[in-house]
Amino acid sequence: MAELQEARIVGTPALDGRYIAEMDMWPLECQEFNRNYQFYDNLREGRFTTTKCKKCGHIAFPPGVICPKCWSEELEWVDLPRRAKVVTFTETQAGAPIGFPPPLILAWLGFGKDSPLKHLLVRIVNCAEGELKEGDEVKFVVFDVPSHPIEVKRETQIRDRVYYAFERVK
Ligand SMILES: [Zn+2]
Repeated sequence: MAELQEARIVGTPALDGRYIAEMDMWPLECQEFNRNYQFYDNLREGRFTTTKCKKCGHIAFPPGVICPKCWSEELEWVDLPRRAKVVTFTETQAGAPIGFPPPLILAWLGFGKDSPLKHLLVRIVNCAEGELKEGDEVKFVVFDVPSHPIEVKRETQIRDRVYYAFERVK
């Protein structure tokens, strides 16, 4: 288990190098644990995607394994717009949850009437305190998050992970 002490799998610096599943704030993205693993594989290619129902055409976000409108399991992956406008936002300057350096900015985005995804509450990254304004244009970004260990056939493997946010278009 020595390799699990490596700093690169640390989700929270305060845990001093140990992996503690209960403190892991990121999803398990690999195929063995997540039926929506394709979403994360697409993120790795820089794609912002979700599932569309082949029967009724409904596009849901977040992606799922069953259509919430007609219960069909025949879904396909479609791309979503990667630019949006900030409708409103909150900025946490102190007391952000562990693992989130301040400012922690959460924004309600508008994607416009032609988008299948109209709105999304999402984190804004790479933005200094006081910099974001309502009406700003933002773009989709993918970033690395701490890896996590899984056990496959009694062998521990370290799986890389990614997640998404938006950032200001400068
Ligand atoms: Zn459907």
